[in-house]
Amino acid sequence: MNSSEFRQRGREMVDYIADYLENIETRRVLPEVQPGYLRDMVPKEAPYDPDSWEEVMEDVERCIMPGITHWQHPRFHAYFPAGNSYPSILGDMLSDSIACVGFSWAASPACTELEILMLDWLAKMINLPQKFLHVSGAGGGVLQGSASDCVLVSMLVARNKALTDLSSSFKEQPEGVLLSKLVAYCSKLAHSCVEKAGMLSLVKMRELDIDENYSLRGGTLEKAIEDDRNEGLIPFYLCATLGTTAVCSYDNIKELGEICEKQKIWMHVDAAYAGSAFICPEFRNKMVGIEYARSFNMNPNKWLLVNFDCSALWVEDRKEMTNALTVDPLYLQHSQSDKAVDFRHWGIPLSRRFRSLKLWFVIRNYGVSGLQSYIRNHCTLAKLFESLVLTDGRFEVLGEVSLGLVCFRLKGHNFYTQMLMRSINLSGKLHMVPALINDSYVIRFAVCHQRAKEADIKYAWCVVLEMAAIVLETCKE
Ligand code: PLP
Repeated sequence: MNSSEFRQRGREMVDYIADYLENIETRRVLPEVQPGYLRDMVPKEAPYDPDSWEEVMEDVERCIMPGITHWQHPRFHAYFPAGNSYPSILGDMLSDSIACVGFSWAASPACTELEILMLDWLAKMINLPQKFLHVSGAGGGVLQGSASDCVLVSMLVARNKALTDLSSSFKEQPEGVLLSKLVAYCSKLAHSCVEKAGMLSLVKMRELDIDENYSLRGGTLEKAIEDDRNEGLIPFYLCATLGTTAVCSYDNIKELGEICEKQKIWMHVDAAYAGSAFICPEFRNKMVGIEYARSFNMNPNKWLLVNFDCSALWVEDRKEMTNALTVDPLYLQHSQSDKAVDFRHWGIPLSRRFRSLKLWFVIRNYGVSGLQSYIRNHCTLAKLFESLVLTDGRFEVLGEVSLGLVCFRLKGHNFYTQMLMRSINLSGKLHMVPALINDSYVIRFAVCHQRAKEADIKYAWCVVLEMAAIVLETCKE
């Protein structure tokens, strides 16, 4: 493809994308395909001679679109939102065109410098303590591929610090023995990526009980630490969550932070979803105690109109980060290393995309006020859905509806709600996913669409009622 063909195809692609997003409602939100569906639609071998562009685009509609779950569909209420907006798509397009691999400052100075500035902008937008900003001179933020990466990196950094500190006190103990004693904590409602981070870091993980508000409390952590110390183990890390995946509950990071400080335990705060809401001052009451966090993550690619991947991680001490993750072969060194940030020492991969570009485009295009309106609209609509659920005595809502998520169920045995969940998704009229909160099976209704409106919420409630009537009727028989 030469540049003149690229200009033509590029314009066509922009039209295709705008048409797709504008007319997405004409498609079924959930595909109806079976595993392996694509195998019979695509040739067994790669084409030896090139296919035409028209053929490729025809196959997009014929083969690919029938197998897409449409996350940008107004009837999509599953998981959490997948960030998307035109400025973000265009920012990513430019990033793909520059196609630099910004692992060090020298490998593309603007890539590193914009990332530093955007992470400082974002930290200020959500009112993180000053210590997390690059301008503080000690801390700083970095973009990772996902919240799972952020949690794993924070645990690896905390583990390295713990092992380094312990090695100086227990000189005769091999590092492997010290490692076998390390224990990390999270609540039962922490995302599964915390458990995975523990697996990968080779440390013991304790999933602690939550209170009646689905929140991990200081007393529970304190007791677990005491028990583990009595067993000769070494607590070193806690991952607290602000905005749990199942029910959007909040661990009490003030209580937890005080204990972590006293016990010299690293408190990481995972706010993958809820973190974006903190750009609105009215939601920041959930952040009380944030000053105790040694690291913090949130995903602009969930709820800040930025396309995947764009997950922000901040640490209060960048030296602890680089101590844990630095390897330095000659071919990656450069003459400005002592003055510049090299993000290859702030994460697992070497190669890094120019992800801050789309963040820059989005923040400048919407302004903080535009992003606040977007978040507030979702929260208002979630409240509307909650109020509709509460008008019907057959249903109940679990947990506080604080942001854009409503967890609801049919009262009584889980079976009814399981049937309802299945019927809703089979109908193809809406897409939602369930969660288990303690032993209660709930349906998670997440407001996801960028321009979600009251009519979408009322429609969703009508579908829930329609399906509930069928389920309850069938159960009677
Ligand atoms: N943490 C929380 C609280 C989440 O809700 C999620 C995903 O929904 C994750 C972590 C994992 O996010 P990612 O897919 O970016 O790894």
